[in-house]
Amino acid sequence: MRVEKLGGNKLELTNSGDLSIFFVGSGSAFTKKMNQTNILIVKGDDHLMVDCGTKTPQALWEYGLPVFKLNNFFITHTHADHIGGLEEVMLMNRYVMNQKKANIYITKKFRKNLWNYSLKGGAEGNENHKGKQLTFHDMWNPIVPKRLKGLKRDAWQFSVGSLKITTFRTMHTPDTSKSWKDSAWSNGLIIDDKILFTSDTRFDPEMLDFCLQNWDIETIFHDCQFFEGGVHASLNELDSLSDEIKEKTYLMHYGDNWKDFKERVKDSPFAGLVKEGHFYNFSL
Ligand SMILES: [Zn+2]
Ligand SMILES: [Zn+2]
Repeated sequence: MRVEKLGGNKLELTNSGDLSIFFVGSGSAFTKKMNQTNILIVKGDDHLMVDCGTKTPQALWEYGLPVFKLNNFFITHTHADHIGGLEEVMLMNRYVMNQKKANIYITKKFRKNLWNYSLKGGAEGNENHKGKQLTFHDMWNPIVPKRLKGLKRDAWQFSVGSLKITTFRTMHTPDTSKSWKDSAWSNGLIIDDKILFTSDTRFDPEMLDFCLQNWDIETIFHDCQFFEGGVHASLNELDSLSDEIKEKTYLMHYGDNWKDFKERVKDSPFAGLVKEGHFYNFSL
């Protein structure tokens, strides 16, 4: 795996064929110095935007990629650092891009929640056609992932061209939940059967076992915070994992005070802190 900086180039939706994960940001929900931990996966002619937080349309624009160019989305959960930029995507697509509908890979249940509790407010009243307001289907082209059976966690699969994505439920909120089963909707991803991207999750060794037992995981991108408690995995908790797991784990979604922990992470077996504005490229 090679880590490469975007540098002064424009962020593109295609590449020469490597599986590439671009970190738009590596920061926490309320980062003021970084961007939010959302990723753009690119492989050959195929791409998938995973989450689109409040800061992401601006961040992408600065990388040279306006949000209306994106064609494929997946959303892990409804916190604003993961969905706050979707209103801009919808309205730009509809009113600047001539009613373009981007694909969104989403289960029916989550689609209803995302629309009714989050997106509807900024969208449905913008037009009125004989009393009919806009719906999710006016804004998006939803594609329902296939439910995977026989696994210990609820999981789904879909493909975007040559890109294979497996998603599974995670344990993020509330901080009192005992497992993914009594947690609010949130999802992690396995990309091309070899890369684990947890998105937001509390420390959940059972989730890591689930992934490592079912897939040949070579790299892990894991949620990490530098304090205890709350709804994310702490560095201390992650430190209790085996060296074998830590060596393949990059930490992400961390706070603006990351410099205070830089040396500690450097001296640990962890692969490192994720660098925003960088590609993590995996040769096929
Ligand atoms: Zn988050
Ligand atoms: Zn979250």
